[in-house]
Amino acid sequence: MSKIAMKTPLVEMDGDEMTRVIWKLIKEDLIEPHIDLATDYYDLGLPHREETRDQVTVDSAEATKKYGVAVKCATITPNAQRVDEYHLSQMWKSPNGTIRSILDGTVFRTPILVKGIKPYIPTWTAPITLARHAYGDVYKNAEMRIPGPGKVELVYTAPDGTESRELVHEFDAPGVVQGMHNLDESIRGFAHSCFDYALEKHEDVWFATKDTISKTYDRRFKDIMQEVFDAEYADRFAAAGIEYFYTLIDDAVARVVRSHGGFIWACKNYDGDVMSDMVSTVYGSLAMMTSVLVSPHGYWEYEAAHGTVQRHYYKYLKGETTSTNSVASIFAWTGALRKRGELDGTPELGEFADRLERTTIATIEGGRMTGDLARITELPDPETLTTEGFIEAIAEQL
Ligand code: NAP
Ligand code: MG
Repeated sequence: MSKIAMKTPLVEMDGDEMTRVIWKLIKEDLIEPHIDLATDYYDLGLPHREETRDQVTVDSAEATKKYGVAVKCATITPNAQRVDEYHLSQMWKSPNGTIRSILDGTVFRTPILVKGIKPYIPTWTAPITLARHAYGDVYKNAEMRIPGPGKVELVYTAPDGTESRELVHEFDAPGVVQGMHNLDESIRGFAHSCFDYALEKHEDVWFATKDTISKTYDRRFKDIMQEVFDAEYADRFAAAGIEYFYTLIDDAVARVVRSHGGFIWACKNYDGDVMSDMVSTVYGSLAMMTSVLVSPHGYWEYEAAHGTVQRHYYKYLKGETTSTNSVASIFAWTGALRKRGELDGTPELGEFADRLERTTIATIEGGRMTGDLARITELPDPETLTTEGFIEAIAEQL
């Protein structure tokens, strides 16, 4: 059988530890036997980031701007312990942060549902995709401890020197204060990413803030989302039979819990940070969660939501058997191949992606899975496979 050809390469961002091991197996056992794989390869493994003084991360993001679609392996975000472990000359920044700052955009996380793994909330029968606005707010704040009595104000100084002020608090005793910001342009980009993704997935968008309390700040988010929707998306949503729906964050949380899933939950930065952990936990396993960065400029970067699974990697290095779940990494590849096929007009790529996803799910539903799922499945007598064994089992069925 001849292999499927590709017109344009995928930008491939290799990574670290256990996910790097999995990465190679996925390519060799699941993809390359079926596709004449064309990739523009960047090694984002920490040793090579050190060698290139992190230039490779920037280069990989620039390549994504050129080609439009990237697939990324999980990477180490260095901390003090990693600086020692890898003899780093400095604590390089998070690759995901660097890439996101170059491509801009929103991260959408979607769980992969399989029969036999029940969500903790039994009514969640369809996936909830969580979209986190990943700019500003408390993540780019300025904070102070106030030592004692005094006045704290917000001061805006215009280029011509005129000032406007807003009293934060008249302190008569010690306390704390925090200032944060966001940008109309960034919120607008978020709106576009959410609405574009909704049209692609044929799903409603829910968005919520606390605008009853935050009458200027959160209100701005609500207004911009609505403006973008009314001006550019209302007709297309109506034609697609989907909705945009705004509510208060408290109400959203209650409705989400009672829902059946099957929609995109757009969240401000902090809400998205917290709620994505809640959503992924309810669905069972971080290893079953995909992630895609959708840039308002038309770039797509696919990855697994989990990290490099360091604990398993140390076992692997000692020669012990591991049972690391590769599903989210496989779905990163299928997502990227499908999008490449759409952009290039090569539907065979999308058909292959569908087949690989179906085969992966069928393998698990047939009772063969990695340890993380075997521990929580309701299927009788699941067979726990090794990291390699699970990928081989999929390869055989494929
Ligand atoms: P992690 O790699 O997500 O793993 C945390 C734990 O979750 C694992 O120890 C394992 O639990 C379980 N787990 C996660 N993925 C799994 C999988 N595919 N199969 C089976 N179990 C899985 O998070 P971490 O250990 O906190 O972080 C490790 C490194 O990843 C860090 O250096 C961090 O910087 C990096 N990281 C990268 C990204 C990214 O590139 N997007 C995201 C997050 C973290 P058990 O040990 O109980 O089996
Ligand atoms: Mg979090």
